[in-house]
Amino acid sequence: MGVFSFFILVFVVFGPSLWGFKRYLARKKEVLNLFREDAHNGLSTEIENYVIPGDGFKRSNFTERRFRRRYFFDLLEIFDHQCANCKRTKLKLEIDHFFIPKSKGGNMMMKHKKGYWVCNGILLCRRCNANKADQGIKEFFEEEVLAGILKKNTQMSDLINGLDPKKFQEPRSLSSDH
Ligand SMILES: [Zn+2]
Repeated sequence: MGVFSFFILVFVVFGPSLWGFKRYLARKKEVLNLFREDAHNGLSTEIENYVIPGDGFKRSNFTERRFRRRYFFDLLEIFDHQCANCKRTKLKLEIDHFFIPKSKGGNMMMKHKKGYWVCNGILLCRRCNANKADQGIKEFFEEEVLAGILKKNTQMSDLINGLDPKKFQEPRSLSSDH
């Protein structure tokens, strides 16, 4: 086989997948840009903006079980092993569904229709979690506390989207619907 036909063969075999890979990278970059923009303007709290898979409403579905442990360690690190509300460290911490409660179909991680991931979990101590119950985040958290939580939550979303949480885009506000 001559050198020329060898290159033709390589092109025929690997060309399409290289092209596909290039498209994949371009799409990924586009999605991350959309994420950065939305994270800065406030991530959506509307369930309609998220893709919840068929079993997403079930408690402890496959995705949740698979990622729960890793996810919990990341949360501990980003939230400095503290309750996001009262800042106590000595209490057992639980994952609270932040933007969208479990009862409304929220998962710990949710895929936005634009393609990026949003972290829907924060850490609360058992007492704060029980006190919060079904209250909305604006009702329960004090303004300053909420701003701090949004920062850390955005860092978690950065991590899930494969970005460096230390170089995150600071959120400007709670949420605008997009
Ligand atoms: Zn607490």
